[in-house]
Amino acid sequence: MAEHRYDPHEIEPRWQAVWANERTWEVSNEPLEDTRAELRAAPGASGAQGGRASDSYVLEMLPYPSGEPHIGHLKTYSVGDAIAHFRRRRGARVLHPMGYDAFGLPAENHAIKTGVHPRDSTAESIASFRRQFHSWGISIDWSRELATDEPSYYRWTQWIFLELFRAGLAYRKEAAVKWCPNDQTVLANEQVDAEGRCERCGALVEVKQLEQWFFRITDYAERLLGDLDEIDWPEHVKTMQRNWIGRSEGAEVTFRCEELGVDYPVFTTRPDTLFGATFFVMAPEHPDVARLALGTGHEHAVREYVNRALNETNEERGNAEKPKTGVPLGRTVTNPVNGEQIPMYVADYVLMEYGTGAIMAVPGHDERDYAFARAFELPVRRVIEGAPEDGGDEQGLPYAGDGALVNSRPDFDGLPNREALRAIVSWLDREGKGHASVNYRLRDWLVSRQRYWGTPIPIVYCERCGIVPVPVEQLPVELPEIEDYTPMGRSPLAGAEGWVNTSCPQCGGSARRETDTMDTFVDSSWYFLRYCDARNERAAWDPAALRQWLPVDQYIGGVEHAILHLMYARFFTKALADLGQLDFQEPFQALFTQGMVTKDGAKMSKSKGNVVSPAAIVERMGADTARCYILFVGPPDQDAEWSDEGMEGVHRFLSRLWRLAAETAERGGAGDHSPSAADLGEDDLTLLRKTHWAIDKVSGDLRRFAFNTAIAAVMELLNDCSRLRDSVELQTLGFALASAASLLFPFAPHVSADAYERLTSERVWEQPWPDAEESLLESDSYELVCQVNGKVRDRVQASAGAGSEELKDLCRAAPNVIAHVDGREIVKEIVVPGKLVNLVVR
Ligand SMILES: [Zn+2]
Ligand SMILES: [Zn+2]
Repeated sequence: MAEHRYDPHEIEPRWQAVWANERTWEVSNEPLEDTRAELRAAPGASGAQGGRASDSYVLEMLPYPSGEPHIGHLKTYSVGDAIAHFRRRRGARVLHPMGYDAFGLPAENHAIKTGVHPRDSTAESIASFRRQFHSWGISIDWSRELATDEPSYYRWTQWIFLELFRAGLAYRKEAAVKWCPNDQTVLANEQVDAEGRCERCGALVEVKQLEQWFFRITDYAERLLGDLDEIDWPEHVKTMQRNWIGRSEGAEVTFRCEELGVDYPVFTTRPDTLFGATFFVMAPEHPDVARLALGTGHEHAVREYVNRALNETNEERGNAEKPKTGVPLGRTVTNPVNGEQIPMYVADYVLMEYGTGAIMAVPGHDERDYAFARAFELPVRRVIEGAPEDGGDEQGLPYAGDGALVNSRPDFDGLPNREALRAIVSWLDREGKGHASVNYRLRDWLVSRQRYWGTPIPIVYCERCGIVPVPVEQLPVELPEIEDYTPMGRSPLAGAEGWVNTSCPQCGGSARRETDTMDTFVDSSWYFLRYCDARNERAAWDPAALRQWLPVDQYIGGVEHAILHLMYARFFTKALADLGQLDFQEPFQALFTQGMVTKDGAKMSKSKGNVVSPAAIVERMGADTARCYILFVGPPDQDAEWSDEGMEGVHRFLSRLWRLAAETAERGGAGDHSPSAADLGEDDLTLLRKTHWAIDKVSGDLRRFAFNTAIAAVMELLNDCSRLRDSVELQTLGFALASAASLLFPFAPHVSADAYERLTSERVWEQPWPDAEESLLESDSYELVCQVNGKVRDRVQASAGAGSEELKDLCRAAPNVIAHVDGREIVKEIVVPGKLVNLVVR
């Protein structure tokens, strides 16, 4: 018999060539019989029984091409591919495309350092990703491949921008923006970490006033919140989105600065405490702060304070324990409920991101206002009665609890505060001084970036016509070539004079192009739509193609995208649906978030020197080992620690499977059908039962993404194959091994396809997913209930074929039965076979 050696470097390219040459994973947009509705009814179990065709869209978050793929990519695409294969073999036509989130800062920073055009370094990186995805054997429909930096793609990103602009959902305003002094660009709030540092480079973020483009995502806050109930996403991701939206109910109340004639609305969740407001505080970022202080003698102090405050982190500023600082603005506002003039301050404990960037301060009932009042010797007034709370002063202030109103106004005093809250809000409403209001922590999405390597914003500025959208037929507005990528507080595009100077599409006069580019999160907010119709040159998509596939049935990616990408994509979907471009509300029906792969207990990073490169593993062990190991190492939704020994164990398992399959095939063992259980010997029956157990187990585990236990089940089956190889019929062994290969195919496609073909002469991916035979799943043992004098005292495992005497013996030997018999005489033994034994003692 020939020596069989498992050689992934021979096996893997051979099967990859088959899939590439035959375009195995490409799917067309031609409609199938419509069974999607039925499939949707069974979430997670998409796939038709009885060979009926259906469509399923399985999608991993598109990679950001920088350098080479890392271990996180290997995990994401191993998870996604397992799901895609499982669904295909259960009868679905699966769309499983690939693209690249190709714009962004790293390529641009690289360009600044080396002078290499971002397009070139990005293209190089994309080539490396593409090559590796091929070498991993991921089942991708390459006919739909796209990159967001291609004009054929960003042309439609620009079109969407204009659609939003026309709908009033894209607008321009001056705003205090977060500015990274190192990257010389504006950052979204989400790109600033809890310590006030740039998410990308770690520099302390500053604040700057600039004219910026925004998307009106706040218009969608309520729907983004409510529709979370409609989607099958991990609860912790939904919670992160809910917290980010941050809905709170209360009232908007207007305080007027009479001297300047300006109204300052504030949002408060506690309008019942309005009579206790004794001062008014504005955030240092509030655009009116400098203007208010002007001419009061406080200008200098205010300017100094604001500059200092802006360098503090939001976390520090929000800390209730921190000593309170601030500066008077030298102005007062009128408290609308009692006409009192209360002094205005600027203080860093008020954040611009919350509410209106100004607050009414109620020191009697708010801890931070109280601390500020003490520090600045401002009056503290109690307006709600209640028992003193821990940490309060001698009068029990600040008091955060409920109680009756006092020191307010005769018609409100004495009312329970919750009731008074409603009464005060109605009064404000009638007087035109306020109204009930809902506040969201969610801010509008700032999309302007003063960078080169992004989608140009398709707007021109004309002195006569103002802001003019570029006509759709002139799209794309292509990125010009430039010499210098270095940002100098303005977009590098501003230096491309020949490009910037243009004519106004409306009046034909001279005009200037917008020189900011779009946040790259705009590019990734709609790419999943484009895959459905990636080569369409006349439109972003054909609605029929979208209907064929969307929404995405299963989305896969990292939990780090819980609030950014996943919120923006939901917003785009809803906005485009409102504009009549889509007919669904949620882009991703189900979401799976995979955990991180760590090494030596830490996230892999170059600086820690603990990086495991997928390319190196594939080179050493083959792609099947790499993919299978990364899914075997632990539940895929959790973090897992990389271990070389663990990987070698998986490699030995694949090697054993392939060798045993090759040997068995050579001996003439065919695995194409299940042997009949009726005329099998004991070992054959054992192996046959084990095979069907594995089919049942792997199918169930795949439905709930428990890939690790699914692979473990195939390992168990292989152990039985090895153990029983010489004592079972060749056909039983062949069937067991072919089934093992079939079940392993979603995780280790090359070795599985090879082993399966040897045993059956068939292509495993063309076979339906195996069904377990119910009759063979019946367990060969059951739980025997052991009673003493009719009371259950123990339970033990009994074999299905055990006779009465054996059952009595089992019962008498059960530890807790012995304890309860306690040496007494057994006068009667009642046996109910398959169920229980009752010992009567005296
Ligand atoms: Zn930065
Ligand atoms: Zn004009």
